[in-house]
Amino acid sequence: MTNFTSQLVDSDKRHLWHPFTQMQDWCAPDHEPLILSGGEGALLRDSNGREYIDGNSSIWTNLHGHNHPKLNAAIRDQLDSVAHTSFLGFSNPPAIRLAEELIKIAPRPLSRVFYSDDGSTAIEVAIKMAVQYWQLKGQPERQRFIAFSNAYHGDTLGAASLGGVGIFHDRFASHTFPVERVSSIEGLEGIGQGAREAVPKSDATGGQRSASPITHHPSLITNPFSIAAVVIEPLIQGAAGMRLWPKGMLARLRRWCDAHGVLLILDEVMTGFGRTGTMFACEQEGVTPDFLALAKGITGGYLPLAATLTTETIYEAFLGTYEEQKTFYYGHSYCGNQVACAAALANLAIFREESVLEKLQPKIRLLSELLQPIAAMRHVSEVRQCGFIAGIELMQDGKTAFDWRSQTGHRVCLAARKHGLLTRPVRDVVVLMPPYCITEAQLKQAVKAIGEGVSEICGLVEGF
Ligand code: PLP
Repeated sequence: MTNFTSQLVDSDKRHLWHPFTQMQDWCAPDHEPLILSGGEGALLRDSNGREYIDGNSSIWTNLHGHNHPKLNAAIRDQLDSVAHTSFLGFSNPPAIRLAEELIKIAPRPLSRVFYSDDGSTAIEVAIKMAVQYWQLKGQPERQRFIAFSNAYHGDTLGAASLGGVGIFHDRFASHTFPVERVSSIEGLEGIGQGAREAVPKSDATGGQRSASPITHHPSLITNPFSIAAVVIEPLIQGAAGMRLWPKGMLARLRRWCDAHGVLLILDEVMTGFGRTGTMFACEQEGVTPDFLALAKGITGGYLPLAATLTTETIYEAFLGTYEEQKTFYYGHSYCGNQVACAAALANLAIFREESVLEKLQPKIRLLSELLQPIAAMRHVSEVRQCGFIAGIELMQDGKTAFDWRSQTGHRVCLAARKHGLLTRPVRDVVVLMPPYCITEAQLKQAVKAIGEGVSEICGLVEGF
């Protein structure tokens, strides 16, 4: 460890509290945290000068690589004008132009853009808009939300209410609002037909299901007309462990919502901006939501920004005189931040100018090929892929999960790090979703590093 690094590590351990991190382990004397201080393309560099492939795109955000000249230039140019001005009562050029561009690429008839800061707030906006919409439309009884088992929509309390990953949310259950949870499209379609779906509750391991069913609210089960909206991560649930929805499920969900007048919120915080191979995941089933929540990749993974897109129908319900009090009273200090919007505009320009989606298709195919030998490994129970997202599920023998206390996924990722790959698992599912600019050679190295990590660790853990 260089002197520079050891000073930083020491100071980090004395002053910081990291997200989703057991700080006792982090601060243990033998734990040397990785301090990332540079990056170029798909590579990141630590404070000791070692390079790694950014295997999870810096928590699913980065698209075109680090230190991209066009993104850097757009941010610098914007700084020469102004960094931030309030969006409450004022507007600004990059925010206006970005809304135009987002509407151009979004599925019709999405036509309005509401800015916030991150994935969680994009969802909060959709929740509040949906509730207020029904109040304004004279149907205040429509106030319940339906979400899916093991869903993840963020950590603020509204978004957490919709979440179904026990380890993240159960502790705060009494401080969140009640949500109806279904585990499949069939479960949803049963609603209103007297059907009751016993949805298992996730347990403290955050994904392993236990036998105790969640209590259903009978009024909802028999009355879909009390539902404001259904929310889903389309095509693939991320924090659930990269679990794929069956093909056609999203289109069926849209049909069910239409039949019952229920609004559809699509959380494309992870899947948006090309991750699944199309600009938005919902395009693959020809579905347009009533609310589209976007964040993470919206700035190419450079700066925090989110957008909740909606239709003219929703928007118009909020119009009226000041005295009618239909205003949507919601906002954050940094809504419409000029630098973030400038970065987002550059992100979309890169998609157009560098034919990013076209160039991504052969890489998606290469990833599938490279993952085949991984899928055949003894301790890999399943490899799931959706576009440029892969989840590699580890199990003792293909059927029996590792003891969660052994932190197998985490240890495999640490082992892969020695082979030049940085990533983070979702429990025992190793995630690989690198920036789109990754080279063929780097992609091969990334998959190889995971294979090495699995071989080195899983045999050892078996006897844990
Ligand atoms: N929705 C989905 C599908 C996500 O994957 C995430 C984060 O991983 C969020 C919402 C929350 O986003 P953020 O962490 O930016 O608040």
